[in-house]
Parts: sequence; C-alpha cells; structure tokens
Amino acid sequence: MRDKIIFDLIEQESNRQDNDIQLIASENYVSEQVMEAQGSILTNKYAEGYPGKRYYGGCEVIDEIEVIAQERFKKLFKTDYHVNVQPHSGSQANQGVFNCILNPGDKVLGMSLDHGGHLTHGHALSLTGKLYEISSYVTDENGELNYDEIRKIAIDVKPKLIICGASAFSLEIDFEKFSLIAKEVGAYLLADIAHIAGLVATGNHMSPFAHVDFVTTTTHKTLRGPRGGVIACKEEHAKLLDRSVFPGIQGGPLEHVIGAKAVAFYEALSDDFKVYQDQVVANCKAFCNQFIELGYTIISGRTENHLFLIDVLQSVGVTGKDAENILGKHNITVNKNSIPNDTLSPVISSGIRLGTAAMTTKGYNESDFILLANKIDQILKENK
Ligand SMILES: *Cc1c(COP(=O)(O)O)cnc(C)c1O
Repeated sequence: MRDKIIFDLIEQESNRQDNDIQLIASENYVSEQVMEAQGSILTNKYAEGYPGKRYYGGCEVIDEIEVIAQERFKKLFKTDYHVNVQPHSGSQANQGVFNCILNPGDKVLGMSLDHGGHLTHGHALSLTGKLYEISSYVTDENGELNYDEIRKIAIDVKPKLIICGASAFSLEIDFEKFSLIAKEVGAYLLADIAHIAGLVATGNHMSPFAHVDFVTTTTHKTLRGPRGGVIACKEEHAKLLDRSVFPGIQGGPLEHVIGAKAVAFYEALSDDFKVYQDQVVANCKAFCNQFIELGYTIISGRTENHLFLIDVLQSVGVTGKDAENILGKHNITVNKNSIPNDTLSPVISSGIRLGTAAMTTKGYNESDFILLANKIDQILKENK
C-alpha cells in the first residue's frame, strides 16, 4: 500500500526546492545519479566492519563500492591519506576524530561558534563541549583570523587538538599557518572542511592535506553529494581512526550513502565540476560586492569562498530572524546567523548567511546574483 501522506509531502518539498531561491550556504542540489545510488537496494545491506574485514557475510559487492569511494576521494583531493567514508554526517566525522585521539577532559582549541565555528567544535550544548575542555579563538576586529593571536592562545592553553575550519566564515583559512602553530605546541591538527570541500577539491581554496593530521568533511555542501561525512588521516592514525568510527561511535555503515558518495566523487573529478566551483566563487564575489555597493555591512568585509554574512541589523535595521522570515515570504530561503560579538541571542541574531553553491547548480551566473542582491535589498527595505 502506497504511503500517500509522505509521498505527497515529498512532492510539496520538491516544489519548494524547485521554485524557491535557495541561498542556504550548506545546501546544494545533487544529481539524479547521486539520488539513484542513495535510493538504491544498497540500503538493505548490513556491513559492520571494513572492506575485507566485515562482521557479516555477503559483503563482496559492498566492499568493492566502499573501496571505490575511498580511492576516488584520494584522487579527488590528491592525497595518500587514509580515508574512512563511513561517518553518517559531518558531526559524526568530527566525533570520530575526537574519539580517536582524545580522552574525556582533554583540551581542545577551536573556533568560537559566534565567530563562524561549528557546534561540534566544542559548543557547551554539544557533546564535544561536555566531554572535553574547550578553549576558543575568535576573529579580530576586522573579522579576520589573526594567526599570531591564535598562536598565543595555543601556547597558553596547550591543547591536545586544534581545530581549524568553519561554518560561517567567508575568508580563506591558512592551513599551513595552523600547522606551524600545532607543531609548536605539540597539538594534533584537524581541518574541518565541511563547507569548502568542493572548493578544496578544485583548487579554489588552499588544501589542508599534507598540513594536518586529520581532515573531516561533509559530502553534501559544496561537494554536492549525499548527506554524509568522511574522515581522512595520516597513515599513522589509520588503525585507531577506523576503530574509533566502528565500533567506537557507529554500527552498520550506510552503504547506500557510501555508494552515492562514490558517485558524487566521480562527478567531482570531472572538468565540469571545476567550471562549477569557479562559478560558485565568481558568483559569490559578485553577490557580495553588490551588497557592498548597496551599503550593506559584510562580516569580514568580503568573501573568498562560497558564502558571506551580512549584518542586517546594522545595514537595514532588521534582525536576522526577521530577515529570514521576510525573505522566506518572498520565496527566498536564507538562514539567520550570529555575527561576531552579536548583541542578540542566537535564535534572533543580527546576521544572515548567504551562499551561492545551490543556485549556481541551478545555473545562476554573476548577473543573476547582482539582480538578486537588488531584489533582497528592496524586499528588506519595503518590509521592515
Ligand atoms: C555542516 C558542518 C558540520 C556538520 O555536518 P552535519 O552533517 O550537519 O553533521 C561540521 N563542521 C562544519 C564546519 C560544518 O559546517
């Protein structure tokens, strides 16, 4: 019997995704073949363990798929790091790293959430904030990372792990500078490239590989694959890392998602994907510059990747929450976002975050984004 209720709702959501303008920086539209793999019979298979070392029979085909996913990831990021494609999400990828090298109570240094870091980098409400002793670094008065300041904090804190990588930061992250700091204080270094993975793959952002002990990523943001996570690490951590993911924090891997990850990496290895990422970055610059032109306050002053944040409270006198609602009523989907030293609570916030990955997939170019900036400006000013 067909479940009409859910399939009707999927139809509704499909219409929303087709008709609204999606500017959420962490979202994208996957290809038909990514969805085909993810919606396949691979979901029926239990495969606890790793290729060649499973705890279930009948894993011969699954093993081939998982190895292909690993190999394609290595090729895509031009790395010989060990790759684990099993994390169910970006959060679980981070948890897998923490569980691999940290004990409860160990010190971790990450980027503060309201300066662009992610919840799993030690926010008090995240398990990471409960298990480990967290210190944070913030952006400076220009919204930039001040590596001398971060070095001072690292020397002072002596963390066992330093995390670099962000969810709401529009400037390039210098993984090499972070690696010098980590070396100096004897800390492990984790680069969380969840947002920028697509840009890293195509050389539109500095690569963390060779500079860091661990790389974590999601596969569903700029990388344009299924919802999921990946961890890569230096060979010396390989065994412990695999054990940390399974049986440490997960049971059976989602092999249908791993199949879809492999398809996404295949697509990302194509010349088209480089063209796409170039356009994502060019669109973001054009979009951001138009807001600057219109007099808006941009956090960090500019963008060097696929996203940027606007201080809407200062720019037009609406809160992030209201801006999200107003734009939502005009079929433009954005998310409210805290800005550095925000005076409002995270559920209200002074900012919105805008990204170009999804609409670039839909074919938007620079002039589309310039028109869109004008439209957003007009909507916010008419409805505040
Ligand atoms: C999105 C994101 C994550 C978490 O990914 P989920 O799949 O939502 O768990 C982790 N780290 C960073 C930096 C992110 O932007």
